[in-house]
Amino acid sequence: MQAATDEYGELREAVRALCADFPAEYHRKIDAERGYPEAFVDALTKAGWLAALIPEEYGGSGLGLTEASIIMEEINRSGGNSGACHGQMYNMGTLLRHGSEEQKRRYLPRIATGELRLQSMGVTEPTTGTDTTKLRTTAVRQGDRYVVNGQKVWISRVQHSELMILLARTTPLAEVKKKSEGMSIFLVDLRDAIGNGMTVRPIDNMVNHETNEIFFDNLEIPAENLIGEEGRGFRYILDGLNAERTLIAAECIGDGYWFIDKVVPYVKERVVFGRPIGQNQGVQFPIAESYIEIEAANLMRFEACRLFDANQPCGAQANMAKYLAAKASWEAANACLQFHGGYGFAHEYDVERKFRETRLYQVAPISTNLILSYVAEHILGMPRSF
Ligand SMILES: Cc1cc2nc3c(=O)[nH]c(=O)nc-3n(C[C@H](O)[C@H](O)[C@H](O)COP(=O)(O)OP(=O)(O)OC[C@H]3O[C@@H](n4cnc5c(N)ncnc54)[C@H](O)[C@@H]3O)c2cc1C
Repeated sequence: MQAATDEYGELREAVRALCADFPAEYHRKIDAERGYPEAFVDALTKAGWLAALIPEEYGGSGLGLTEASIIMEEINRSGGNSGACHGQMYNMGTLLRHGSEEQKRRYLPRIATGELRLQSMGVTEPTTGTDTTKLRTTAVRQGDRYVVNGQKVWISRVQHSELMILLARTTPLAEVKKKSEGMSIFLVDLRDAIGNGMTVRPIDNMVNHETNEIFFDNLEIPAENLIGEEGRGFRYILDGLNAERTLIAAECIGDGYWFIDKVVPYVKERVVFGRPIGQNQGVQFPIAESYIEIEAANLMRFEACRLFDANQPCGAQANMAKYLAAKASWEAANACLQFHGGYGFAHEYDVERKFRETRLYQVAPISTNLILSYVAEHILGMPRSF
């Protein structure tokens, strides 16, 4: 089943060719071992795909969000999981947009070659969850350093990254005019930090997603690692969310096509009651319905990319693309699992693995409810509920 034809055939072919070296058996084994797809991520880095959004002057390929989203889509469509490396794509956007020239020159070229990985972003906290402005991790300036104390949860890829972007409060909530003020972002060098004020505790979870609890106990960060202006960190994080949401929408679309590609041949071949199960409309309709929804989500994803690449506001489209795509891939996953019958539960079919992987995106990086709330309040102008 082919997605609506687009003009990115060459790019798609190139990413597919790389992904073909990492077949289903590879991803299945990594999942079973709860490992990290080092070889796959290395190959993507060496081929330059993870530096797609880094401008050429800093050693990247200077492509747009549209192309970046196609790279992520193709990884998921091939049976892989971009969750192992998508942080690299959007985290460095924060550095690019808000970092000083010196920070950009120091880090971006080395991120582009893969010498340094900026895969992690530490925002979520156990006690405050989605209510980010209430976060309790503090960073207090002391001379030429900031001293960080607090705790984060669900912070991904920390064990496979040299750098992490950290959001912490630099001015107490009681002392700011607006609750979104007084937070700052820092570039944390994980090689210096872990064991010197930062502790990492992995969280076993439903997906093979390297994610962790993090504890800060007087972690010292050089003041020069502050990104942008002190106190404006929340705004900087928000600036990066449209790219993140659009890329994750593309990943869900890749998953959605993977499920369709997997289930359609199966229902055509599997014979029960003397006929292919795919001859029953009870089987056909859920598959057709999810295919329609994937195609529709795909249009919204390209619209979000188009606006983003034209430097136009795209918050509504990025959020709606993420909502539609996460829902469509989940519907496709459900149909795919259901119509594989018992075989859908067998690891060797890969359906249950992809089913678990795509389910994450209705919760992270933002829950579906919070997108509905954003559209209700910011697009439709309904009263603020929280
Ligand atoms: C595998 C994984 C990887 C992650 N990686 C990262 C990472 O790298 N960095 C990072 O900072 N975070 C990460 N997260 C955290 C993720 O962004 C949060 O889990 C997510 O934003 C939801 O926050 P929460 O878990 O605190 O849920 P809560 O805020 O407790 O919300 C729970 C549920 O309540 C509902 N809800 C909450 N508030 C409202 C409301 N006002 N109206 C209606 N419904 C509401 C929603 O359905 C929501 O799903 C990751 C999470 C997972 C599971």
